[in-house]
Order: sequence, then C-alpha cells, then structure tokens
Amino acid sequence: MPNRKAKVLVVDDEPLIRTTMSLVLGEMGYHVRSAEDGFCALREIHQEMPDILLSDLDMPGMSGFELLSVVGRRFPAVHKIAMSGAYFGSEVPCGASADAFYQKGSGMDSLLHILGALPQIKRHAPQPSSSAEPVWIQRNGHGSAPETCVTISCPVCLRSFPQAIDDSDGLMRETECIHCSSPIQYEIVQPSDRMTA
Ligand SMILES: [Zn+2]
Repeated sequence: MPNRKAKVLVVDDEPLIRTTMSLVLGEMGYHVRSAEDGFCALREIHQEMPDILLSDLDMPGMSGFELLSVVGRRFPAVHKIAMSGAYFGSEVPCGASADAFYQKGSGMDSLLHILGALPQIKRHAPQPSSSAEPVWIQRNGHGSAPETCVTISCPVCLRSFPQAIDDSDGLMRETECIHCSSPIQYEIVQPSDRMTA
C-alpha cells in the first residue's frame, strides 16, 4: 500500500474523533498527530509539516473552512481533506478549500479509500501569496449583533488578530495583518448558509 508512512494531522474539536482516528490510522501505518482546533493545528504544522491534513469543518475558534484556506495558501504541498457530519456525499462542500471530503460516519473504509487515492490527485501549482483565494472566516454563533468580532489568521505569518465586522454576509473584505502588514482578503461564512442539500 502506498502512502504508508504519510504524516497525518487530524483536527477535530471532539476528543473521541481524535482518539478514534489516531488509533485506526496509526494501525494502518500512518504517523498521526491531532489538534483540537485550527489554532492548535497551525502550531502543530509549524513544528512539523504533515503530508495530509484531515480537518473537521465546524469547530469553535478557527473553523475548518478557515484552517483549510490558510493551509492551502501557506502550505500548498499539504493534501487537505475536509470532514464533517453536516454535509453528505463525497463532494467537497462549497467554500471548503480541500482536495477531498470525508463524510463523518460513512465508515473508516471510505476514509482509508480517500487517503489511498490522495497521491493521484493532481496538485494545484503552488500559488503565489498574492493569490485571490480568500480566507474564510466562520462567524461565531448565530447572533445578529450589528457588529461582531471575528478572529483572522494571517496566511503569511500565521498569527491571529481580532477584526470587527458589520452584519453583511458573503462580501469579500480586505484587511491588513496587524503583525506583518500583509493584505488579507476574507469572507464571512455562516455555517447554516452552507447546509446545502
Ligand atoms: Zn501576518
């Protein structure tokens, strides 16, 4: 089996998922690490680059949408798999920057199949950091306060900072990283907007 020694980083806020994935994938010969949210995942990636990132989409703090888009821009060589129990089928959900999608609960066999097929997936050419792909930010909660704060992670320096946003969803916005001054394009996503049938 190819891909045996691949390094996998599992990101999920549910401890049980992290434990199960680590056990099963470890038994299959993968080197598995796990992180409980996007921020921890970026720290792990900083320490050692994984070959494959397997990330839940709906997590508190930094969502999987955001993590995948940051990793896609900063570390284009990493294979990315989105996973969720809120989307169905094998299509990558709209807005998720991933090579493949694993529907939670569809069985470890199907996950192993996805992992085994990854080397055949054509990689995008490494994108320059000026790439237009936006960073996706998931709004915290469902509140309708006129102004909310979100946390943005800079795809260039990987540090995070708070950003006040108004209530208009779906518009491409632009800001500047407060740490390294890189321009960052981002878009606010509502989890519920993406629950397409
Ligand atoms: Zn920065």
